[in-house]
Amino acid sequence: MERLFGTNGVRGVVNEYMSAQLALDVGRAIGSYMGGKVALATDCRTSADMLRAAVSAGLTSVGCEVLDLGMQPTPSLQYFVKISGISGGVMITASHNPPEFNGIKAVDSDGTEMPREKEEEIERIFFSRSFTGTDWRSVGSVRPTSGADAYYSRAVLSQVDEGEISNRKASVVLDCANGAGSLVSPGLLRRLGARAITLNCNPEGTFPGHPSEPTPDNLGDLISLVRERGADLGVAQDGDADRAIFVDDKGRYVYGDRSLAVVAAVMVAENGGGVVVTPVSTSQCVEDAVVAAGGEVIYTRVGAPIVARKMMEVGAVFGGEENGGLIFPGHQFCRDAAMSMAKMLEIISIEGPLSSLLAKVPSYCLDKRKLHCPDDRKEEVLRAVCEAFASERVDRTDGVKVFFEGGWTLIRPSGTEPIFRVYTEGRDEGTAKRLADECERTVREIMGGD
Ligand code: MG
Repeated sequence: MERLFGTNGVRGVVNEYMSAQLALDVGRAIGSYMGGKVALATDCRTSADMLRAAVSAGLTSVGCEVLDLGMQPTPSLQYFVKISGISGGVMITASHNPPEFNGIKAVDSDGTEMPREKEEEIERIFFSRSFTGTDWRSVGSVRPTSGADAYYSRAVLSQVDEGEISNRKASVVLDCANGAGSLVSPGLLRRLGARAITLNCNPEGTFPGHPSEPTPDNLGDLISLVRERGADLGVAQDGDADRAIFVDDKGRYVYGDRSLAVVAAVMVAENGGGVVVTPVSTSQCVEDAVVAAGGEVIYTRVGAPIVARKMMEVGAVFGGEENGGLIFPGHQFCRDAAMSMAKMLEIISIEGPLSSLLAKVPSYCLDKRKLHCPDDRKEEVLRAVCEAFASERVDRTDGVKVFFEGGWTLIRPSGTEPIFRVYTEGRDEGTAKRLADECERTVREIMGGD
């Protein structure tokens, strides 16, 4: 069947793929599936108003009542849906993509991202155009609804020890990438008594500060400011504020799997053990930290909704992804940048500087590559890779993960591009490169120089 939702909802360049017409029909399809009351929010992109109006028209045309929350971080919309007992939510965002993109994401009635089976149901309605028939009497209305960000902020504060954080008065440099996090996170830092310096914390849909993906290249200003001011912590959020990346007190960029390891160890220790859920692509350092704290790791396929649902199923104490998407089950089952920031602030207030906590996390070297492969050859190539490495331990939870002496390689087909993403981890740089080269060579041989 034709697909509408990619790994992160429906996404594309505005007024090309992501047109008002498409948004209208996606709104009609989601509304036909959900019915009842649906919360709607946007991030701060320039196309937010256009797409909000179109999705809203689609939802009301099939009889839904729309609660328009205005601009919100994605996790704030998700929290509102969770506590409101409504049918679901729709978030208009393209997360960390360049400003010309926008997207539409459906949120389930419990506030989690839609599982794939439900997205397929919405896709069936969309492609067959079997929208709910509604006459003039039963079209829905739009109710502007304020305060979602306030409920959300209070919920985040309730999850951390405000007293410990206020006493510590840590200095924090916060970079919201001109995204929707600007609405909530500076206020949270103030409430927590942190000495905050804000950078790019004015919402601006062209992302003038830097591109909204929190990569090391994009965070030069944040890193300099942490160093210059001798700050205790730097925090960077992506455009819709579901992911947070940290800079330590020495002004060093902290890769997402290392901050995941630090927080995971604390969550396990607080709970006296327990399960941490993370995708197969996550660094071994997370499992090392979790096991040392008395917990265990369960691996899943890549994708935040998959991690979140596995966490619910197994009663996990924590979970997350290597890209800075951390999920705190006591708060809500979705990635949450403000919650991650508040928890990290609590951790450094109680346990000491982030740099010393990171020093206890084992280091591995990661090699990330992309290899071209046409979509229609991906499965055949993966099967051949399994055969080529038949003498090693091979895991097929997601793509192909091959465990070698001293490291592992994961070859995953991208859901959106004709490429494989190849992640290799080794205990040192030489090992990672050697294993990655070996995998790349194998894939190229199988593809016959394609
Ligand atoms: Mg995001």
